[in-house]
Amino acid sequence: RKGTVVITGASSGLGLATAKALAETGKWHVVMACRDFLKTARAAKSAGIAKENYTIMHLDLSSLDSVHQFVDNFRRSELPLDVLVCNAAVYLPTAKEPRFTAEGFEISVGTNHLGHFLLARLLLDDLNKSDYPSRRLIIVGSITGNTNTLAGNVPPKANLGDLRGLAGGLNGLNSSVMIDGGEFDGAKAYKDSKVCNMLTMQEFHRRYHEETGITFASLYPGCIATTGLFREHIPLFRTLFPPFQKYITKGYVSEDEAGKRLAQVVSEPSLTKSGVYWSWNKTSASFENQLSEEASNAEKARKVWEVSEKLVGLV
Ligand code: NDP
Repeated sequence: RKGTVVITGASSGLGLATAKALAETGKWHVVMACRDFLKTARAAKSAGIAKENYTIMHLDLSSLDSVHQFVDNFRRSELPLDVLVCNAAVYLPTAKEPRFTAEGFEISVGTNHLGHFLLARLLLDDLNKSDYPSRRLIIVGSITGNTNTLAGNVPPKANLGDLRGLAGGLNGLNSSVMIDGGEFDGAKAYKDSKVCNMLTMQEFHRRYHEETGITFASLYPGCIATTGLFREHIPLFRTLFPPFQKYITKGYVSEDEAGKRLAQVVSEPSLTKSGVYWSWNKTSASFENQLSEEASNAEKARKVWEVSEKLVGLV
């Protein structure tokens, strides 16, 4: 049978390119889990994804109620869940003031980490029930949260500190809006959320890989300088960033190529190893990358997991 893959944030950028790459093989049915139905429908159409190869289902990761509703709707559809890709993200590098999710979490960590954390925890059961030969849970990471790289050392650097802001609920009332308890910084909040994504993948691996056989993986697909992720950035940045990445850092990758990379992590038989953070070298060959000290700290991964469970109401 065809595999079924759920991709969050498939309405643009990497998520859309991955949906297209997988649908084109004829071996996958893609559930596009998105907050804007019409935008997604138009995106799927203009990407030329054949109707029979996708379903759009509503999911707003900045609302935990919406996450629960998505899980209910998905179960009612009676589609199997073979692979889950946590891809959606918001990035607010120029925001002066924090914005918040429905539950009052700072929106970058609330959406990118907490929304996905709840979604992945709830859907683990469904992945476990699938009879597909290779079941996978993939959380898209980033080099920007990885302080052992050049890009990860551009200030402000990711740093989760002792998690005091996260433990307080990131609400700006009785806690800081930043995980480490510091002042609001939108670019740092995004990087922190990506470190949480990479820690979550490893904690899933430690807790569930042996018992379930599910592959847990993360990846850095390359710098896709043209996606909507940079929509909130100043116009000069948006003009200069793609050529800068293309000619100076040489980290540039097209949306198509990045989509093919994530599609490999979804479906390639050679990429079944669990607990891995995948990257690609200059000739587009995949390799197991090293994570920074903070992004591979097992103690921190456990703490992020436990604090997050409380925040999303799992315990
Ligand atoms: P885009 O902005 O193009 O895509 C982000 C997607 O997330 C959109 O579909 C967006 O939906 C969706 N989204 C945002 N907020 C929510 C929400 N509350 N609920 C549901 N969906 C939401 O960016 P990219 O394609 O670049 O980013 C995809 C992933 O790739 C992210 O995880 C990012 O961190 C990662 N990444 C990107 C890199 C890059 O260079 N671009 C580099 C490394 C990693 P909508 O269309 O409705 O806005």
